[in-house]
Amino acid sequence: MTTRRDLLHSLPATGAAFAVAGHLLLEDSPAAAQPAPAQPLAGHFHPLGKAPSRHTIAALEEARRTLPFTDTRDFEENRRGLIAAMPDRQIANDAGGIAWDMDRFNFLDQRESFDSIHPSLHRIARLNNNYGLYEVVPGIYQVRGFDLANITFVQGRTGWIVFDVMITTEVARAAWRLFQQHRGQGLPISAVVYSHNHVDHWGGIRGLLTEEEVRARNVAVIAPAGFMRNAIEENVYAGNAMNRRLAYQYGQLLTVSPHGFVSQGLGQGVSNGVVGLIGPNRIVERDIEAFEVDGVPMVFQNTPNTEAPSEMNTYIPGLKALWMAENVTATLHNIYTLRGAPVRDALRWSKYIGEALYRFGTEAEVMFASHHWPRWGNQRVQEVLRAQRDLYANMNNQVLHYANQGVTINQMHKVYRMPEQLQQTWYARGYHGSPEHNARAVVQRFLGFWDCNPATLIPLTPEEAAPLYVEMMGGPERIIARARTLHEEGRYQHASEILNRLVFAEPGNRPARELLADVWEQIGYQQENPGLRNSFLNGAYELRSGLSLAEGTSSTTPDVIRAMPTELFLNFLAIRMDPRRAEGMRFTINLVTPDNGERFIVELANGTLTNIQGFQAARADLTLTINRANLEQVMAGQKTLEAQIADGTARVEGDVTVLTQLASLMVDFDPRFEVLPGTRPADQQVARAEAYQAVPRAMVPE
Ligand SMILES: [Zn+2]
Repeated sequence: MTTRRDLLHSLPATGAAFAVAGHLLLEDSPAAAQPAPAQPLAGHFHPLGKAPSRHTIAALEEARRTLPFTDTRDFEENRRGLIAAMPDRQIANDAGGIAWDMDRFNFLDQRESFDSIHPSLHRIARLNNNYGLYEVVPGIYQVRGFDLANITFVQGRTGWIVFDVMITTEVARAAWRLFQQHRGQGLPISAVVYSHNHVDHWGGIRGLLTEEEVRARNVAVIAPAGFMRNAIEENVYAGNAMNRRLAYQYGQLLTVSPHGFVSQGLGQGVSNGVVGLIGPNRIVERDIEAFEVDGVPMVFQNTPNTEAPSEMNTYIPGLKALWMAENVTATLHNIYTLRGAPVRDALRWSKYIGEALYRFGTEAEVMFASHHWPRWGNQRVQEVLRAQRDLYANMNNQVLHYANQGVTINQMHKVYRMPEQLQQTWYARGYHGSPEHNARAVVQRFLGFWDCNPATLIPLTPEEAAPLYVEMMGGPERIIARARTLHEEGRYQHASEILNRLVFAEPGNRPARELLADVWEQIGYQQENPGLRNSFLNGAYELRSGLSLAEGTSSTTPDVIRAMPTELFLNFLAIRMDPRRAEGMRFTINLVTPDNGERFIVELANGTLTNIQGFQAARADLTLTINRANLEQVMAGQKTLEAQIADGTARVEGDVTVLTQLASLMVDFDPRFEVLPGTRPADQQVARAEAYQAVPRAMVPE
């Protein structure tokens, strides 16, 4: 019988990963001869920032030597079809700030290599430096580089059919203007296709259209099944935590620079402006639907639970053009996204790509998507579709293959190895997902977080465990001395392991925090994946400077509030409610919203707030009747519920004090909560929301 241990040791290139770490530091070993701490680097954006070490430089050199840099097809495809570069390097936003600043990324083209940027990451960052209007084929045009995602214009019989509209009003408006200057012929927008529910594909709509125009000109706004609910839902329940984690994945504290933020992989970054939402008026419900959009025959393929919960590909037979939404881009995408979201289904994702390959890809002459650049020629289209199909299937199958032999979530990232051929394929590289975090995600999807070792089943918290570790390791001085040696040897993960314990045991230990920051910085420089790089560098920043995120103005726009189903709003109130203080309280509310015909029972019992749609309690403590349109003002924080009751907009019957009781239980979530101990300044105040305000924070792009 093969034991788990045998298996791990039989796997090539993993023996070292699981070997017991080097020599032990003995009492009389030369710890006194420890290396001098690294000195800050002049020109680094942070005063405590360090230069890449010789180990980091060697790791990047190794990547330069082994990756297929002689394959430059991506650069040729990326340049192809340029009609006009965008002349304005900055795009202003309506609040008087800057929505988009392309000059920040100029440094990427000024040097052939950087010793603080993984060469493959530098490569995708340079590819993402495209900025202008491109022809895909005559009749299809893309504006690229204005935001994380692209905007695409397809010629219809009477106007332009827009595929995806980027994140904000301002950049969408600028893209439309550039397009009109060169190819738009003054024709209007005749239809909009939202490929999926992530905000970088719908948030910019108000830069192109108003709701009145959509109605007056009968503009079709087309979306995949489940679009509206998923557009809102994905960001509500855990929205505050997601926004905090986004600071890590997207490196929000980092300066754009060789030692900081470089690119987000899918695109250079996220625009900063007004997010809007105009709901679809045509939903593609069936698996496959074919219909004309402004005179252009199109075939839509729903691909639910792939890159997004609600997503669809589109084929335009007349142009032999295949739109792969965000299902096929120039990268390995996220099975698990570091900002947090339910783990995606890699096998299903692969199957939908396989279906697109055999349904459309056998004749398509061009493939284009909502990020990155197109692929031309049927051979190239098929090549990319096949490799992407295999990439996600391999991830699913290989991980489960080893999981079925006992490899756990805590080992899988060191066991999973992408097939050599895919490793040598640029569009399979991890510019958004990484093989490491995706491999763990597949285990999480099928087996969950537990590795089946009872020691980790109900573990001590990091705060509880750390002091004992520090004590048993001989105290802080010994840990720091050992960590300095590990740092000098380039064994950064080992150094991180022990310093992290010390930081949790002694949040005020400045040398420990600064050394851990130095360690994470080197790990960050070595990453190809932007999310991993940003997370380590953002962690280093917080350890060095503390948490200095300005509290984001809540970007809950009226459009988003209007799109939020009442049930979702009530579910969110139940999450905001302080469960400890609610213990012992009990009441039942009937909620009626006559203008949309909805009814709910909202009940507080057992320290828990629940709601059920479509029911009314026979003996409620209170019946609250308010039109959904007026409730939206409450949800948006524009008018309180009390004011609505006082002026008769809302009607109440029964004991109105239950509303005051419920309001008193609502907690405001602060997006600046502490991730690393001791990093949060004491004087920061949480901005107060109205008790019944819906505050799902910013929508999260992907
Ligand atoms: Zn996207």
